[in-house]
Amino acid sequence: MSANPHPATEAERAQALTDLHFGRVFTDHMAHARWTRAGGWGDYGVVPFGDLTLSPAAAVLHYAQEVFEGIKAYRHDDGSIWTFRPRYNAARLNVSARRMAIPELPEEDFIASLVDLVRADADWVPSGEGESLYLRPFAFASEAFLGVHSASTIDYYVIASPSGAYFTHGLQPISIWVAQDYHRAGRGGTGFAKTGGNYASSLLPQEEADVRGCDQVCFLDDVTEKNLEELGGMNVMVVDADGTVRTPRLTGTILEGNTRSAIIRLLQDSGRRVVEETIPLETLLEDISSGKVREVFACGTAAVVVPLGRLKGEGFDVAIEGSEVTHEIYERLTGIQYGRLEDPYNWMY
Ligand code: PMP
Repeated sequence: MSANPHPATEAERAQALTDLHFGRVFTDHMAHARWTRAGGWGDYGVVPFGDLTLSPAAAVLHYAQEVFEGIKAYRHDDGSIWTFRPRYNAARLNVSARRMAIPELPEEDFIASLVDLVRADADWVPSGEGESLYLRPFAFASEAFLGVHSASTIDYYVIASPSGAYFTHGLQPISIWVAQDYHRAGRGGTGFAKTGGNYASSLLPQEEADVRGCDQVCFLDDVTEKNLEELGGMNVMVVDADGTVRTPRLTGTILEGNTRSAIIRLLQDSGRRVVEETIPLETLLEDISSGKVREVFACGTAAVVVPLGRLKGEGFDVAIEGSEVTHEIYERLTGIQYGRLEDPYNWMY
């Protein structure tokens, strides 16, 4: 990994691109726009990547009025650069924005901000197996004001970070710590929005997972404290022995993943039964032991899909062997994303 978070020279960039880690190195530019209550959205442009100047009284630092997105740009063999279903992210940014009392960004402006930044930094899009340019759009309350109300100035940026293959030796199963004392989100809260606070509240349970020797934490719902919700940054799916794929239904506390939604479509179109329903942890553990459940996997932009090989929590520790459907989905989705397979849905932009 480069010690320099923002390589300045061609040689430094070449070096940074040979050893990619996630989210450490950033490209030369960032897209920007600003909203003011008086003037609406304006100031569109691409500017050099650099530190922001922010008042210590900026509302985001105190009340976390902020939303963000995550999307990748993939280089195909012919050199062209593509993103995966960016309109989904545009729409989700606005769902998050509404919840956080941030003005919506027109979808076309969101798409244009990605295109403009990727054009400016096209040389930064890596071309190795499984590599991509990770794009991080975000909008936050920049107004300097300590009153608790929605800000009159919002700054929107997109930054970009070349990222390496999530898996270098095939899909490796991860282990999960099921949090029973902490919840990620509550009814009426912000769980369905992509906003920083949801991630802040997941850090302590993630540390608990680390201490238990697990890779990631899985959250249960806050009402019954029995039903599976999602991981800190990925949705969860269960594959039954009869081929049915089940995933927790969206109740307002789960972030609706772009990957989740694409996988549901792919599975349905390949003739599989897909069910969005309540999945009690206790039943899931029994079904894994009895063989009724063959696979459990997580899905999200970063890893695409990853098999869950072990579920651990207070009083249980269960291994899961299967990953056949997980592999199938991985090949299909990455095939479309990297242009190896036909894209019958026009998902690539
Ligand atoms: N859940 C959470 C909490 C996430 O942060 C993410 C990553 N954005 C996901 C699910 C998966 O969403 P996507 O498939 O759009 O990356």
